[in-house]
Amino acid sequence: MGAFDGMRALVTGGASGIGLATARRLTALGAHVAVLDLRPPPEDQLLHVQGDVSDTPSVTAATRAAVEAFGGLDILVNNAGVGAQGRVEDNSDEEWHRVLNVNVVGHVRATRSVLPSLRASSCAAIVNVASIAATAGLPDRALYSAAKGAVLSLTLAMAADLMADGIRVNAVNPGTVNTPWVERLLENADDPEQERAALAARQPHGRLVDPEEVAEAICYLASPAAGSVTGTALAVDGGMAGLRLRRKD
Ligand code: NAD
Repeated sequence: MGAFDGMRALVTGGASGIGLATARRLTALGAHVAVLDLRPPPEDQLLHVQGDVSDTPSVTAATRAAVEAFGGLDILVNNAGVGAQGRVEDNSDEEWHRVLNVNVVGHVRATRSVLPSLRASSCAAIVNVASIAATAGLPDRALYSAAKGAVLSLTLAMAADLMADGIRVNAVNPGTVNTPWVERLLENADDPEQERAALAARQPHGRLVDPEEVAEAICYLASPAAGSVTGTALAVDGGMAGLRLRRKD
């Protein structure tokens, strides 16, 4: 018996990284899982509903396909997102609109289009993927941090509004996670190995977070075992948000 036997889940951005690890874990625990992504996931057992979270008709069609295939929906993981680098003066208006459109309004689009299905579920849960960038000031991440801060605040507002509907809403705040996204960032660094070491050293446990570790946290928040947990954000960051260690000389 799996914790998600008979449950139906939709993971946005589930073709790679944290989303793919989450889709795999939910499947292993018994859920039927659909992946809303621009591109297909690497496995056939995941139902691919092609879609772009920055486009309302696309999200509407993709979520409808998932709900029709499963006959309903219990879990939404809002994970699809894109990166942005730069200080507050570095990104154009177009870039601000593009990134906020994917990273914030994308969560809104997916959520509102599946709400009727979630309201009909007896174990409904939404998990939003925020970031350490929402709770700590990171250099060169003004736009990205603003987007993730918005996701965190949106999580609280949604949790309040959807309480009466029996829908729990929580977030995870990952630190730097070893995903294709971070691999791309490292490839573009002047010295990729030095950059990887610097990112690892920034997290008190001294390494990058594994996507499977974030997936496990998402699955907990999505599961009936977390029935009394709503309006929270779970950091999966090796202690980066909360700890101030004294280094040994
Ligand atoms: P990733 O690039 O490995 O995967 C992202 C997935 O989202 C891809 O499959 C991509 O196709 C999909 N996607 C992108 N734009 C989309 C769109 N408009 N519509 C539909 N799908 C789209 O990235 P990841 O590292 O797994 O990141 C996933 C989430 O985790 C993001 O929200 C990111 O902000 C967040 N996050 C990542 C890290 C990290 O260090 N990797 C840390 C904190 C938070």
